[in-house]
Amino acid sequence: MPNGGAFCGALPEAAILKMSDKPCRKRTLCRACGGDRLELFLSLGAQPLANSFLSGPAEFASEQFYALDVYFCRSCTLVQLLDVVDPEVLFRNYLYVTGTSETMASHNAGYAATVAGLLQLGPKDLVVEAASNDGSLLAQFKKLGVRTLGVEPARNLAEAARASGVETLDRFFDESEAVGVRESHGPAKAVIANNVLAHVDDTVGFLRGAAGLLAEDGLAVFEVPYLVELLNRLEYDTIYHEHLCYFSVMALGRLCKEAGLGIRRIDRVPVHGGSLRVYAGRNSLEHCPEALEMMAQERGAGLDSVQTYELFAEKVEQHRRKLRTFLCDRRSAGRTLAAYGAPAKGNTLLNYCGIDASIVPFTVDRNPLKVGLFTPGMHLPVRPVSALLEDQPDEVLILAWNFASEIMRQQEVYRARGGGFLTPLPEPQVHGPLPPHPTQAAAAGEPDNLAEPGAAPGAVPGAER
Ligand SMILES: [Zn+2]
Repeated sequence: MPNGGAFCGALPEAAILKMSDKPCRKRTLCRACGGDRLELFLSLGAQPLANSFLSGPAEFASEQFYALDVYFCRSCTLVQLLDVVDPEVLFRNYLYVTGTSETMASHNAGYAATVAGLLQLGPKDLVVEAASNDGSLLAQFKKLGVRTLGVEPARNLAEAARASGVETLDRFFDESEAVGVRESHGPAKAVIANNVLAHVDDTVGFLRGAAGLLAEDGLAVFEVPYLVELLNRLEYDTIYHEHLCYFSVMALGRLCKEAGLGIRRIDRVPVHGGSLRVYAGRNSLEHCPEALEMMAQERGAGLDSVQTYELFAEKVEQHRRKLRTFLCDRRSAGRTLAAYGAPAKGNTLLNYCGIDASIVPFTVDRNPLKVGLFTPGMHLPVRPVSALLEDQPDEVLILAWNFASEIMRQQEVYRARGGGFLTPLPEPQVHGPLPPHPTQAAAAGEPDNLAEPGAAPGAVPGAER
């Protein structure tokens, strides 16, 4: 049946007027340069907080919604949100645990080895991590015999980290906290901040704090999702209230200088849909040639022009229609669906595209903290991964698409029994059930999207389309 049939009602309006009365502040000036030449180019509507999972239907009616609007600064090029939800609401009880994914575990081991090698870290050296989550990265540094300290505002995660032996303060890292840490623990050889720079409203203050905590020859090392990947691969689902900034190297270079840091090295790393790992030092404000080269490439690609972002917004709107039709057509054809993963980004996608439990009745997740809860906004129940084999839905939409290869490998039994997978981005795609002779499929090879940042999860022979 075309156009989704009975399963697709009207598209959700961009602005559902059901806004929150909870703390939310609207900036009027750019958080990097202080300018006011800010252009709204993409509105994802009023959305609940992507990590505010609900414990049951009693909480549905009082759910809070906040504008999810994305702006471009014509002065310094920073792409950012201006609606700032109170960090106490956002981060004090956080459900994302880095240690739950195999992909992240091996990423962490490699990360620690690289930084330790680069800085020749020894037993007297200190590594501080801001937003250290459950301490799984610092645990890798500990294995290498280095002193570590985590600073993590989510009390539940800080406690989990301490329980596993990683010293952790349950506080927000900022300029004044950095001064306190330096007084109590001494200067740090490395200050690490992965996927947190985008979370802080005072970006410059955060970087100044990191710079002030560093030993003279130390490095601030931070990973941020790369704006170029977001644009090229239509990863608009990575936009949610926690992510206040979407960084280009142009914008980062300016921010670093503002904070008294120069970029020493910059790597592209294949996590979270394609990220940058930036190494910045305080003894010179000059950026390294690779960083300058990347800035030039970004200007060449139009990242300093608002038209580029307006074009992106048009593609996002088209994708919403395409994905809804894709899923609703499958439901109308009699297929049963489920989703895999309950990541924050999945909630942007579900809410923006209006994919509720009538289309995808439930999702599954490996994180025991999320199982038994309901997704914000669309209220999909989160079940354990074993539910896939219990219910054996015909197809599973992978919301955690950055782990698609890992997930499909793990679910060999589900696929051997005839189950298929769907990935939503950059285009809806079908990865059919395993063919009868798994050895042949293995010989055909399955590209690993972690090894190859640009590669889509591999389609299996016999898959549709
Ligand atoms: Zn600006």
